[in-house]
Amino acid sequence: MAAFEYFKTNVEKAASLLGLSEAERKALEKPDRILRAELEIEMDDGKKERFPAYRVQFNNARGPYKGGIRFHPNADEDEVSALAAMMAVKCAVVGIPMGGGKGGVAVDPKKLSRGEIHRLSRAYVRAFADNLGPDTDVPAPDVYTNPEIMGVMLDEYEKIVGKKSPAMITGKPVELGGSFGRDTATADGAMAVLEAFFKDRRFDPKFLTVAIQGVGNAGAQAARLACAMGMKVVALADSHGTLKSRRGIDVEKTLSIKEEKGSVRDLYCQGSVCDATRLAEDDAEILAADAVIVAQADVLIPAALEEQVRKENAPDVTADIILEIANGPVTPEADEVLASKNTTVIPDVLANAGGVTVSYFEWLQNRSGEHWTKEVVRARLLETMTKAYREIADFAKERDITLREAAYALALTRIIGAMKAREKLRPNDFARADTPI
Ligand code: GLU
Repeated sequence: MAAFEYFKTNVEKAASLLGLSEAERKALEKPDRILRAELEIEMDDGKKERFPAYRVQFNNARGPYKGGIRFHPNADEDEVSALAAMMAVKCAVVGIPMGGGKGGVAVDPKKLSRGEIHRLSRAYVRAFADNLGPDTDVPAPDVYTNPEIMGVMLDEYEKIVGKKSPAMITGKPVELGGSFGRDTATADGAMAVLEAFFKDRRFDPKFLTVAIQGVGNAGAQAARLACAMGMKVVALADSHGTLKSRRGIDVEKTLSIKEEKGSVRDLYCQGSVCDATRLAEDDAEILAADAVIVAQADVLIPAALEEQVRKENAPDVTADIILEIANGPVTPEADEVLASKNTTVIPDVLANAGGVTVSYFEWLQNRSGEHWTKEVVRARLLETMTKAYREIADFAKERDITLREAAYALALTRIIGAMKAREKLRPNDFARADTPI
C-alpha cells in the first residue's frame, strides 16, 4: 500500500469515530496543492544533473503550511503528500497555529559533495520561492537535511525577495536566527511524552530495556535521553546493521564510533569482519539492520524511516510500547496486529511533534525579534507535549480507542473546525449559514 493510502486509512478510522460527513472526509483527504519541479544543478565535474523535487501544501486551515524538506532517493509525490498531510495533523495535535506541508528531492545526498548539496538547496528555493514565505509556507529540516541547508535556503530566498525574512524557514543555525533547542527538539519532545506515559502506567524506566532504530539527529538524542532516564539500551541500529547487547550498549561510545567511522557496527567490525572475541566478552551481536524491530526489549523506538513495522514482522515484535519518532514507521496492517497483542503505539503525530513545536517557537521568535533562552524553550516544549499527551490519553481512555485513533480524531476535529469557521465568512456561503450574519 502506498504512503498516502496509509494516511487515508487513519483519517477514515477517525472520521467514523467522529461521524464526519462524506464531504468532510473528502476535504481532509485532498492536498490543496502539489508543486513539482526538476532541479538542474552543475555537478563538481562540470556535468549537469536533474533531480525531481516536490513541495506539497496539504492544508492551511489552521495557519501557514509547515513542514520539512527531505533529500532521499525514495522521495516521491505519494510519500511527500502523505508526510504533508501528517504535518497538518501533527500541528493540530499540539495545538500550534500551522498547517501541513512537506518537501522532498529524489536524491542520494550521500553521493553529493557539500557544494553540490548547496547548489541543490538553492535550486529548490528558486523553484518554489513564489509559494514559500513566513505567512505562506515555512519549510524546515527532515531526513538528510540539516541547519546548514536551512541557512543556505534562507540565503537564497532573501536574495530573491531582496529583504531579510528569517521566519520563512525554521531549523536554521542559531547564528542565523535559529532557536536554541531546535536540534534536539524532536527527541526531547518524544521522550517527554514517553515519560508522561510511564508515569500514567506507574512504570519505572530503570527496569525497562529499549531498542532504537536510527542514529540520526532524533535517534541519537533519544538514545542519550533513554540512558539519562535510567533505561538500558539493548539494541541500536543504523542502515548498515543492528548492534545488540543484553548487557546494555555504551551509547556515547557507539555514537562517537558511528560519527567517526560511519556505522554502529564499526564498534566491533572492520568491513565485513567482526571481532568475535570482543563481541562475546560484551555479550553483544551484530545483526541485520531490520533485526532491531524484533529485538527483545520493553520499548521499541523507530527513529528512521516509514514502514518499518509491517504485517510480516509485527507478530515478532516483543516490545510492549512503541514510540514512533520516525514519521509513519508502523503500517495500518501492523497497527491491527499490535493492537491484538496489546502493544501500545505512541503515534508519530504526537511523539515526534516536538520538532515542529520548536520550529513554531523559532518562527515566533523571528517574527517578534526575540531570542528565548534554552530554559524557556525547553519549559514551553515540555508544557506543549505533556498537555497534548494528556488530552490524547484521556480521550483514548474515554472512548476505548488507540492513541493513534484519539490523536487523529482530536486533530481532525480542530482542522474541520477551522475550515468551517472560514467557510462561514465566505459571502457565497452566507445563504447557507445556520445563523444569519
Ligand atoms: N521534519 C520534521 C517533522 O516531520 C519537522 C518539521 C518542522 O519543523 O516544520 O515533523
